[in-house]
Amino acid sequence: MAGIDLHFHSRTSDGALTPTEVIDRAAARSPTLLALTDHDCTGGLAEAAAAAARHGIGFLNGVEVSVSWGRHTVHIVGLGVDPDEPRLAAGLKGIRDGRVERARRMGAALANAGIPGVFEGAMARCDNPEMVGRTHFARHLVASGAVKDLRTVFRKYLTPGKPGYVEHDWAGLEEAVGWIVGAGGMAAIAHPGRYDMGKTLIERLILDFKAAGGQGIEVACGSHSLDDMHKFALHAERHQLFASCGSDFHAPGEGGRDVGHTEDLPPICRPIWRELDARILR
Ligand code: AMP
Ligand code: MN
Ligand code: MN
Ligand code: MN
Repeated sequence: MAGIDLHFHSRTSDGALTPTEVIDRAAARSPTLLALTDHDCTGGLAEAAAAAARHGIGFLNGVEVSVSWGRHTVHIVGLGVDPDEPRLAAGLKGIRDGRVERARRMGAALANAGIPGVFEGAMARCDNPEMVGRTHFARHLVASGAVKDLRTVFRKYLTPGKPGYVEHDWAGLEEAVGWIVGAGGMAAIAHPGRYDMGKTLIERLILDFKAAGGQGIEVACGSHSLDDMHKFALHAERHQLFASCGSDFHAPGEGGRDVGHTEDLPPICRPIWRELDARILR
């Protein structure tokens, strides 16, 4: 939506800008409402909220939770959460605790494939070691000259079946949605167009998500084509889900949408932020 962006990242997870810098960048588009949604981590929210307040922009505390659903990894965005709520905080900490061990396995797998030193290179690229992720691996591989750009790193090395990809157990779907709702927030399925799932599987994901207490889905987002947007607007209508929108911005120059705006939602959508008015920090 012109003026609304409810999904983007800072250095607290795998973005390249500090929380203040990313809010300042978004502010250049004069938005009315923003939510920072770092992966598995709420550590940047206080700084981002303060920056938004300085600009007079509404702010929702957000988080993007990594979830394993069957053999699939899916991301669930939580909006309007209380980051200090103990079950949410403990759940996210549990996910973060698994990241370094997974990164070691990724490093070993890449070394086996003939590319040594990537674990160390990735660790050197994140502010917070427990937030190490595939993006840090990818940035190291590009900066070291091993691969020409991020897209190519993911395509050749970091996606299922490729040499640097390792299986990992994230949070359960029911668990993650429970933490978000228990912390006063609303949950939304992030970038549904990105999952390797046909219609039947997506519908099954939506039903499991709703059974766990989930109420939203991203319709407009950085990785959706216009076709995806209309497709998921119809899914939202069929399943009575509120629609969310977010750029999923990570870093200047890394492709995708810039922060601070998204496409306008199709008129059939019921925007999720109208349900979250009481949670907006102003
Ligand atoms: P992780 O949570 O460590 O598995 O890392 C997932 C992150 O990798 C996502 O949040 C994106 O930032 C990034 N990512 C995943 N796939 C791609 C891709 N094909 N191109 C660029 N970045 C990607
Ligand atoms: Mn990311
Ligand atoms: Mn995601
Ligand atoms: Mn994201």
